[in-house]
Amino acid sequence: MIKDNLEKIKKMIPKNVSLVVVSKTHPSSAILEAYQTGHRIFGENKVQELVEKYENLPKDIEWHMIGHLQSNKVKYIAPFVALIHGVDSLNLLEEINKRAAQNNRTISCLLQIHVAKEESKFGFSENELTELLSNQSVSNLKNIKLVGLMGMATNTNNINQIRSEFQKLKHLFEKFKIQNSDFKILSMGMSGDYQIAIEEGSNMVRIGSSIFGNRNYTKN
Ligand SMILES: *Cc1c(COP(=O)(O)O)cnc(C)c1O
Repeated sequence: MIKDNLEKIKKMIPKNVSLVVVSKTHPSSAILEAYQTGHRIFGENKVQELVEKYENLPKDIEWHMIGHLQSNKVKYIAPFVALIHGVDSLNLLEEINKRAAQNNRTISCLLQIHVAKEESKFGFSENELTELLSNQSVSNLKNIKLVGLMGMATNTNNINQIRSEFQKLKHLFEKFKIQNSDFKILSMGMSGDYQIAIEEGSNMVRIGSSIFGNRNYTKN
């Protein structure tokens, strides 16, 4: 079932779009089923769960942290995490830089942008992003690499609204790419909206429930 769903999704997304298989709440056995198809990129949103799965599963898995990350937990994932999607403060960037340095690593990060209507979604506004990227102390952080932007659209059935939020993200991505040559990744789109996201220029989608089925609790 998982294998079939994964194959189906892979057929739906163009070659230039990376797929992060979101395995949060699902057991290692489910992840292995996806792994056996050759898939290697998995995303988790909780530090403890991510660390446990990293320890129990094959070491060639590329683990992405896609959820909200607290500074005091960065140290647990710094030794192995491949990409952190939800960076939403300078303080967090500094902590990632510090922990990456302790592990002799450079950690790739995406800056999370707030485009959704919901108050609860984390992320920078356009002004905050402008300020951050022109801040000299950010360019001094040698053990992080800012590789692009991430965002989530409002959880709504209004397709026009979702589309316009993704357009905003794409616009910001193109704008800031000019001065940030490492910007390569625009992470947007989940099970419910990835097709719209791809139409609007996403090159990384994060998909969970369309592959593994619904989670037992509703939490992003
Ligand atoms: C859970 C989650 C996803 C995947 O959501 P689905 O609707 O299950 O595809 C994507 N991105 C983030 C940040 C998430 O927390």
